[in-house]
Amino acid sequence: MILNKKSKDLTGMIFGYWSVIGLSHKGVDRQYYWFCKCKCGSKKTVLGKNLKSGMSKSCGCYRIKQSIDACKTHGLSNHPIYSIWKAMIRRCTNINDPGYKSYGGRGIYVCTEWLLSPQIFINDMYEKYKKSLTIDRIDNNDGYHKENCRWVSAKFNNRNKSTSKSVLRTNIKTGETKIYTRITDVIQDGFHQGHVSYCCLGKLKHHKKYYWKYISLIKV
Ligand SMILES: [Zn+2]
Repeated sequence: MILNKKSKDLTGMIFGYWSVIGLSHKGVDRQYYWFCKCKCGSKKTVLGKNLKSGMSKSCGCYRIKQSIDACKTHGLSNHPIYSIWKAMIRRCTNINDPGYKSYGGRGIYVCTEWLLSPQIFINDMYEKYKKSLTIDRIDNNDGYHKENCRWVSAKFNNRNKSTSKSVLRTNIKTGETKIYTRITDVIQDGFHQGHVSYCCLGKLKHHKKYYWKYISLIKV
């Protein structure tokens, strides 16, 4: 890919949190896209025009940092559920967080309202909060948003994890079966975890020509 003479080479330049690694491609819009690395470590292809105009300053972590800074100025950071908000954002957006693999890394998102405003998170969730409760997602494969979140005791949260169900896969045509000890294991065989979960809950009939069912495995 070669730049035309009129276009400036952005390689090595810094725009906000972005460092430009090199030219990526020319889009169908005839505009140049650049490989960029964000200060937080994540990489993305960004439209050159958006880099130069300041439209894109980071992978999104810049706006999160801004709302964290705003909390400090507004005294929100002393709020009891502020640290819960912060940790939730971190494990879903920061690839350096030890929990990222199980959250952001497998598509668990935080809804935009909560992402950008701890105040909205507090308004939505504070009413039923009690000290020592942790935030829990009702559907473990869905993200953090008001409809999917509730407060549970830490004990409940752990129990929920340790009794994660196994999944039985049945080939609709041949009747052949296979057991996955954990639902997350279906990903390795190219299945969609969310769709498998929907099948198990009866919301979908089948996924990729297989039937899916939750089963409990008893250790002997
Ligand atoms: Zn970033």
